[in-house]
Amino acid sequence: MPNSIARFLMGLMGRSWVYESVEDIREVIAKNHANSQAKRARTHTEGAARLTDAPAFQPGLIDLHDELHETWSYLVGLADRATELGHETLGSTLAVAATTTRHTLGHVATAAEATVPAPESPVAKHDPDRASSGHGHQPLRAPARLAEPSRRTEPRPLQAYELASWMCPDLDCGLTAMKGTHHWDDRGPYQKLSNHSLECPNGHRWNNSTDGG
Ligand SMILES: [Zn+2]
Repeated sequence: MPNSIARFLMGLMGRSWVYESVEDIREVIAKNHANSQAKRARTHTEGAARLTDAPAFQPGLIDLHDELHETWSYLVGLADRATELGHETLGSTLAVAATTTRHTLGHVATAAEATVPAPESPVAKHDPDRASSGHGHQPLRAPARLAEPSRRTEPRPLQAYELASWMCPDLDCGLTAMKGTHHWDDRGPYQKLSNHSLECPNGHRWNNSTDGG
């Protein structure tokens, strides 16, 4: 259990010490950072140096995902409560922290999946939206794709002006696509599909397939 959570729970039993000024808070945060930064950087650089292949990354990433999940739940609880109490700035800032943690969760899950040495692994996408619907979220597996006989063009990277018209479908995100590709799928006469694969700056990926004439 992270220290901050233990302190929070202790705080429920009696009012704990609070700082009275923003300067004091900045100072203590800077001091904590200075005290632990060098040691943590060394610990994790050395730890990472012992990893010799992709599967070795996996247990750590799965644990990290679990810890981040707790952090995310903690932030959601705090955000809801702050809003309930009418502290709007506090609540909305905490909600943003919860959302970015949820994005981090998605990236860590995707990274964990990328440790599997798969022969042509299907793109098992972690859907951050699932993670938001309650605490019991499951790792997602992509269904195996059926091989389809089709002629497709080589994916072409999209230009900035083309990316500008694509918005991330994640409701908490909504950023404009940062990169993407386009290709045509030719499945016979009158069955030409226009396919876009897109990614936003938060790492969400999505596809769009439409009849292209
Ligand atoms: Zn996004």
